[in-house]
Amino acid sequence: MTSHETNQRPRPLWALGLLAVLAAAVVAVAGTFMAVLGADIGCVGGSGSVQAAPTKTAKQEIAPWKLKLYRAAAKRFDIDWTFLASIGYQECGNGACPEINPSGCGGAMQIAVVRGSACSPDPSVPTLWERYGVDADGDGKASITSPADSIFTGARILRPVMGAPRTGGSYAAYREAACNYYGACADGLTSYADEVMARAVQYGFRGAGSPEPSDPAGARPAPSGNGQCGTSQSPSGGLGGAKRVNGPAELKSLPADITPGTPEACDSRIIADVIYLARRFGQVVTDCFGLGHTPDGEHPLGAAIDAAPKDGNWANTMRLARAVGWKPSCASSGSRPVCADPPFRFVGYNGYPNHGDPAHCVPCSGGPHIHISWQTSASPGMPENASRYSYIPATWIEVLAGPGSGGGSGKGKRG
Ligand SMILES: [Zn+2]
Repeated sequence: MTSHETNQRPRPLWALGLLAVLAAAVVAVAGTFMAVLGADIGCVGGSGSVQAAPTKTAKQEIAPWKLKLYRAAAKRFDIDWTFLASIGYQECGNGACPEINPSGCGGAMQIAVVRGSACSPDPSVPTLWERYGVDADGDGKASITSPADSIFTGARILRPVMGAPRTGGSYAAYREAACNYYGACADGLTSYADEVMARAVQYGFRGAGSPEPSDPAGARPAPSGNGQCGTSQSPSGGLGGAKRVNGPAELKSLPADITPGTPEACDSRIIADVIYLARRFGQVVTDCFGLGHTPDGEHPLGAAIDAAPKDGNWANTMRLARAVGWKPSCASSGSRPVCADPPFRFVGYNGYPNHGDPAHCVPCSGGPHIHISWQTSASPGMPENASRYSYIPATWIEVLAGPGSGGGSGKGKRG
C-alpha cells in the first residue's frame, strides 16, 4: 500500500484501495454463502448493450484465438470484453500462463485453484475455481490449464463475485471490480486498477466516465498483475517453501554488510534465511535476537528480524513483504495463514501499528520498519511459548527449504 509513495499517487487512491479490500472481503464471504446454498449465480443472459469493437491496439496485442475467447466469454456472462481482456493481459501478458503458481493460483486469469494455499487460505472453503469453474471447451471438465475454461471462469467470477457491472457499465464501476480482483487498487508493485482500465480504454472500452485513450504507442503498461488473491506470487515472490529444523541452536552474528553499526545476532538456524532475504531485497537488519520486545514473541528466540531498506527505497521493503506472504488485506493481523507464508509466522508492515514504511507507520514508536517472525515451536500459540528474559532456544524452527534455490528470477509464471 505504498502506492502514493512509489507511484506518486495521492492518498485518496490508497483510501479507495482500502475500501476495495473491504468490499472484496464482503463479496468473498457472500460468494461462499451462495456456494453453500447451491445457488447458481454465474450465468446471466446477454444484455442489450453492444460490445465494443476491438481497436487496432487490441488486435495488435491479443492473439486472434484469445480475442475470440474473451469476446465469447464476455458475451456469455454479460461483461465488457475489453475489461476482461485487460485483466487477462494484466495477469498473464501475452503468454498462456497455464500453470499453477506457488501461491496456488493458475491459468490464463490466475484464479485461486489450490485449497489451503496463499491464494485460498482456508482449506475448508472451496476455491474460486471449485466454486465457479466453467467447462468452456467442452471436454467434460473445467480445467485450469485450458485457456477457454480459465477465461470463461474469470468472466463468471468477475461479474457476481468481484462486482463487475454488466456490459455498458461505467468506468468507475469496472475500475472497482479490478481493485477487487487484485485485492487492492494499487500497491508498491503495480497501479493495478489504473493499468487495467487504461488498457481497456485502449482496447475500445467506452463506459461512462472513460478518459480519452492515450496514444497507443505511448502509455501502454507492461503486464504486472498477480491474480485476484492478493499477490504473494509477485515478481519477487516464490521463495521456495519451508522445512522444519531442530537444534543445535546458538546465537550467531550476522555479517557486517547487512547489519552496519552494532552487529545483530540471530538463532543460527535462520541465519541463512536472514542473509538471503536481506541481500536479495536490499535490507539492513536493525534487530534480531533481543529482549526489549514482546517477551513471548520471536525476538527473544532470535527468530525474528526488524529491517529497513539499505538505500532508503521502501519499494524494496514492499517487495520483501510481498515475498514473505504479506498482503494489504490482512495487514492488521499480519499472521498466518493469510498474511505470512511458511516458514514465516507473522509480518508486521503497513497497516500494523508501529510498523511499516514512513508513510504508514502510525503510531511509530520504534521507527519505520518491517518485522518478520519465523514459525517456531515456542511461537505464540505453541506449547513451548512463554515469556523469555534470556536466550532459551526453541526446539525447532521452520526455515526456507533452500534459500536462494527457490527464489531466483523468473518465478512469476506469466508470459
Ligand atoms: Zn520486530
